[in-house]
Amino acid sequence: MKNMTLASITAACSGIFFGNEQQQKLGIDGVVIDSRKVKENFLFIPIKGERVDGHDFIPEVMKNGAACTLSEKVLEDVDFPYIFVDSCEQALKDIAEFYRKNLDILVVGITGSVGKTSTKEIIASVLEQEFNVLKTQGNFNNEIGLPLTIFNIQKEHEVAVVEMGISDFGEMHRLAKVARPDICVITNIGFSHLENLKSREGILKAKTEIFDFLTSDGAIVLNGDDDMLETVKEVNGITPTFFGVANTTGNYADEIESLGLKGSKGTFHIGLDTYKVHIPLPGHHMLYNSLAAASVGKILGLTKEQIQKGIETLASVGGRNHMIEVNDYTIIDDCYNANPVSMKASIDVLTHALGRKIAVVGDMFELGEKEKELHYQVGEYIGEKVIDFVFASGELSKELIRGVQDTGNTCILKHFEKQDNLIEELKKNLQPGDTVLVKASHGMHYENVIKELME
Ligand code: ATP
Ligand code: MG
Repeated sequence: MKNMTLASITAACSGIFFGNEQQQKLGIDGVVIDSRKVKENFLFIPIKGERVDGHDFIPEVMKNGAACTLSEKVLEDVDFPYIFVDSCEQALKDIAEFYRKNLDILVVGITGSVGKTSTKEIIASVLEQEFNVLKTQGNFNNEIGLPLTIFNIQKEHEVAVVEMGISDFGEMHRLAKVARPDICVITNIGFSHLENLKSREGILKAKTEIFDFLTSDGAIVLNGDDDMLETVKEVNGITPTFFGVANTTGNYADEIESLGLKGSKGTFHIGLDTYKVHIPLPGHHMLYNSLAAASVGKILGLTKEQIQKGIETLASVGGRNHMIEVNDYTIIDDCYNANPVSMKASIDVLTHALGRKIAVVGDMFELGEKEKELHYQVGEYIGEKVIDFVFASGELSKELIRGVQDTGNTCILKHFEKQDNLIEELKKNLQPGDTVLVKASHGMHYENVIKELME
């Protein structure tokens, strides 16, 4: 890692080095907070969690070849170098900031109330058409995840696309200090974290702390259809680039057509370029996320062909992996496992289907004491959606059905004691154009339902 000697790391985090002069000159090859991920010549930063304290693992990681560790405690009688600090969490950020400042890389920072991860994935897919890109893994977007993402940047990377998530004032300022984004993207200003941020004005103020370290040669990309973001005029001499569907003052899309589960189509107008794009992810919001990505691509000089390809070759997500088209209807085969989170996500996918939406759901196992409550809650979730049929079997699914019922949703709702009866009734009701989601824990053997539907 460039310029990361134990001496420079000690200075970066205002620590006290315990070790000899020779050791101070040592360079490290990586930084981790998880003792299991330590490799030869890494720096270990022990974080105090709710249940475990990383400090307990210091002897083990040093035995496994770490070059050095940070510590908030004085370590007696040790034969390895360490850096004493007040707070390991603060040091993690300080060291990441130091590393970032020494890197010759362009950073795209993404925040907003919803759509950060999706937008990050699309931006990365677009920029990969031209650059060697490092992106945030999963949802590593907070004061721990962001510094770790920065440490993943290697010398071959040209652009880093990082997700930045917050829940209070001051947090974004600290994240921006670490990441120093050259291009800042804000997807929208919603209603989350109001307990801390009080109002949407508060959310806007907190999110726009992302501009705190932006230099005048940077860029800002904002959703111009968002009533709060629309009010951002000029920052540090930078005029934001706006994108949207309703507003035509910036980059926009028109001639939009929903393809249901297959995503949507539209014509993009990005700067002076006009081109057709197929967005392979379902949902109107993916159009916004793709416009943000096209805007960033344009700022970085990509051609319209590159941007188009980046969007159209997006890796599939969620239930699209399991879509089967057969006998004039679409089956979403998701019968290998189920838990409340994945069940809700599959229901979300189903809501994007164009024709009638049929959910064939069954018990979710291994949920512990709260299993009934959790089934009931999934039912309530389904009840809030526009779904035409909910068919279920299994003892626990009775609770799920009750949950849907209690929302007052008027969809056709049936519970079956036997799977055979469910299949029989399902076949009787099917019409061309229907989409059927089949989802339950594997123990429910819903693969039989799929088999019957395929015949
Ligand atoms: P988190 O705060 O959990 O990190 P996130 O901001 O990263 O969330 P995503 O994971 O991209 O958001 O999307 C969460 C959900 O929000 C998705 O399932 C999708 O239904 C919806 N969504 C995605 N993009 C948008 C958008 N631009 N506007 C509104 N809803 C969106
Ligand atoms: Mg996210």
